[in-house]
Amino acid sequence: MSQEIKEKKPKNHFPILIAEDNAITRKLLEKILIKGGHEVVSAENGREALELFNKNFFPIILTDWLMPEMNGIELCKTIRASSTERYVFIILLTAKDSKDDIVVGLEAGADDYLTKPINNAELMARLNTGKRILELESSLKEANKEIKLLSITDPLTGCYNRGYLNEQLPQEIRRARRYQHSLSIIFCDIDHFKAVNDIHGHQVGDQVLKEFAKCMKESFRYDVDWLIRYGGEEFLIVLPETNTKGAVLTAERLRGTISQREINVDGKPINITASFGVSGFVPETPEDRISFDAMLNQADKYLYQSKNEGRNRVTCGDL
Ligand code: GH3
Ligand code: MG
Ligand code: MG
Ligand code: MG
Repeated sequence: MSQEIKEKKPKNHFPILIAEDNAITRKLLEKILIKGGHEVVSAENGREALELFNKNFFPIILTDWLMPEMNGIELCKTIRASSTERYVFIILLTAKDSKDDIVVGLEAGADDYLTKPINNAELMARLNTGKRILELESSLKEANKEIKLLSITDPLTGCYNRGYLNEQLPQEIRRARRYQHSLSIIFCDIDHFKAVNDIHGHQVGDQVLKEFAKCMKESFRYDVDWLIRYGGEEFLIVLPETNTKGAVLTAERLRGTISQREINVDGKPINITASFGVSGFVPETPEDRISFDAMLNQADKYLYQSKNEGRNRVTCGDL
């Protein structure tokens, strides 16, 4: 199996996997493709190509039809049956050029075909078609990612929005129940925020909200916990695998950080505090029920208590 990656000067970002049993044709293909700036990996038959493909993804496959062990048609069918995250553009190389054969090749999952003897210019032109399709796929994926992100985040603060919470929290609760893991939430509301708007104006208020969210994000396990902008100046933090005690410690840390942080907007120093309500859940058995609403209500009740008792504090139930 000749599988070393052959480097070329201007690197092309679509590595190509060649499956060809004929050594002379294989070398010729490698030469043309490397000259065209591609990274190339070669296999002597379909089975070897499949092994290489399973180890490393290739966006383009150039496969011969007739090969020992696994032919090009079987290789096409196997790749199409496997669920690859990205599209694989497959070009079938063949001495066969009857219309029936071409139909068989395309039906097996090939995107295009080339008849032997290979014409360099035709090969490059067909590869370019493949690259256009792959580039289109990748820009669509990027756009979809962007749309998905916009649909689950709040534009001002970049925090997750309530839609994301409603989508994810029931699932998180189910997971906690099934594995009997703890789960906590922290409700947080900025104190006297109306006064910030009244004194400094709404735009400064917006900047304060942004800085507040940034400060929160810096203060917890951003890859595990999630921060949601629940409403105007109300935020919710979901802490998977964290019991009430752990969540109270996190809330206390956040409270301290916020109260000590001087937020600077257009040279104006602004100090804010926030109040917190914590609700934790430790399922005793997988049947142990707690609903999304019950957790939110409980955290909200404790937040209200923090406000009533003077603000800038954390309240929870029994620890
Ligand atoms: P409390 O300590 O009781 O929470 O007092 P508060 O003033 O923070 O609470 P209240 O509910 O009276 O006021 C919330 C304020 O938050 C009023 C509203 O205009 C402001 N607010 C909500 N969303 C935004 C926003 O996106 N930008 C700005 N600048 N202000 C907002
Ligand atoms: Mg062959
Ligand atoms: Mg408030
Ligand atoms: Mg509020």
